[in-house]
Amino acid sequence: MKHVRDFYVFLGPPGAGKGTQAKVVAHRLGIPQISSGDLFRENIKNQTEMGIQANEYIKVGDLVPDDVTVAMVRERISRTDCMNGAILDGFPRTPAQAKAFDGILSETGCKLNRVPYIKVPEEALIERLSGRLTCRDKGHVFHKSYNPPKEPGVCDFDGSELYQREDDRPETVARRIRVYIERTQPLIEYYQDRDVLVEVDGDRDIETITADLVKLLEVEETNV
Ligand code: ADP
Ligand code: ADP
Repeated sequence: MKHVRDFYVFLGPPGAGKGTQAKVVAHRLGIPQISSGDLFRENIKNQTEMGIQANEYIKVGDLVPDDVTVAMVRERISRTDCMNGAILDGFPRTPAQAKAFDGILSETGCKLNRVPYIKVPEEALIERLSGRLTCRDKGHVFHKSYNPPKEPGVCDFDGSELYQREDDRPETVARRIRVYIERTQPLIEYYQDRDVLVEVDGDRDIETITADLVKLLEVEETNV
């Protein structure tokens, strides 16, 4: 039988822990983690034309237009390292992106296996985003109090500098949460209707959530 490539989408508000969890879970499953935010930040760092344009939206907490975002993700998932699937984090973020993603999956004979929705109360999100520290090189994330690096200001994994993202400042955080409610929250129903959504309580410690996610995704893998 033809092997079906399985994709997973980690859904949740900014600060829910999507990146933190997706990195570890993808590593355990041996598939790549694809973060649309990390891809944009890489383009901004390299000053590509797309990165310069995308940054105008990102720095004020708005979403980058769907066509640019979909083209970027389409190219990324066409690469050979995604031949056994991938975990997407931060994409799709609008119903139009979700529809485009369905199209990409069916064109390439892939399956959307599960969509873990990481649920966290709004007050916790603000605390998490305002204390988030991000690594310059690969986008590993830490938190000043909840998940501090071993050495202040230095990434545990690759030794690169940790910085506070411009869009993690309080004014922009509030806007991003509003944008999430208006534009991304409808995806909960979208994926519920397709019977792939699984709610995960994200208001627990990082390791407990990871264990739940790995169990959830591994069970699905063996049942395929
Ligand atoms: P997202 O990708 O959903 O925006 P991140 O994974 O970047 O979220 O996490 C946001 C911040 O919250 C980071 O500083 C991270 O270290 C911290 N964090 C993630 N998960 C938890 C958790 N379960 N409890 C406390 N802090 C967390
Ligand atoms: P967070 O980890 O806090 O959820 P991300 O790193 O995923 O944030 O995204 C940072 C910013 O990049 C978003 O606020 C948005 O401007 C842009 N972005 C990321 N993914 C998308 C997407 N799928 N569609 C549109 N804009 C996006």
